[in-house]
Amino acid sequence: MKTVLKWGCGLVGLALIGVGVLLLTASPQLRTSGFLGFIRYQLNPKAVDLDLIETPALEHCPGAPFVAPTAGWIGVMYGDSILGASNHSGLDIFTLEGNGVTPVYAAYDGFVTRLPDWTSAVIIRHPADPLNPERQIWTYYTHMADVEGNDYIVDTIPPGAFELEVKQGALLGYQGDYNGRSPNRVSTHLHFSLVLDDGAGQFLNETGINNTLDPSPYLGMRLNSLCADRPPACRPDFSCP
Ligand SMILES: [Zn+2]
Repeated sequence: MKTVLKWGCGLVGLALIGVGVLLLTASPQLRTSGFLGFIRYQLNPKAVDLDLIETPALEHCPGAPFVAPTAGWIGVMYGDSILGASNHSGLDIFTLEGNGVTPVYAAYDGFVTRLPDWTSAVIIRHPADPLNPERQIWTYYTHMADVEGNDYIVDTIPPGAFELEVKQGALLGYQGDYNGRSPNRVSTHLHFSLVLDDGAGQFLNETGINNTLDPSPYLGMRLNSLCADRPPACRPDFSCP
């Protein structure tokens, strides 16, 4: 699971840097908003007058079961494809604060596990999906380390941690830019996804979008690439029309 994920995010990162350089070259003074503006801002903050709206951490939209797992710019939506990279299976939430600063929180009550070889990731089991209590689901959080693999996950969740109870809003770690030691750079962010269970108590492969859920109804925002608000905000009609 992890290797493919790293590769996918690396591809996205490389593509975004390329796009950003193109835009910087084309019109460095243009006032901008949106994701491409964010990439330009990261490459050269002084060149861009960015209309950047961040979603706060722990934002809890009315009627939605989850809280936002971190603060930042929700720049890559559920289902986004960028320059041929496969459909994105979760949300990428980018901070402007750099590595190891912006906290990452549990979106919902559950039991957290970190496999022995997971450098930057944890996964939380939720025995009853709050929107479909008959089934178990999982939430996955990654990129919580630097490029060298020094992790920003809290000490109470070491490699090999298994089924530790966490409450909604519990601190898991901090955003980083770990990319599986790929040469492709990614910006500091959290990748967050909702993962389906195989029916036998194990999570499915998170990198396949068909193994994941649209986070929109869980967070109460339009986050599906088919109709996403950019930037997203709480709204009662979070489903695509
Ligand atoms: Zn991602």
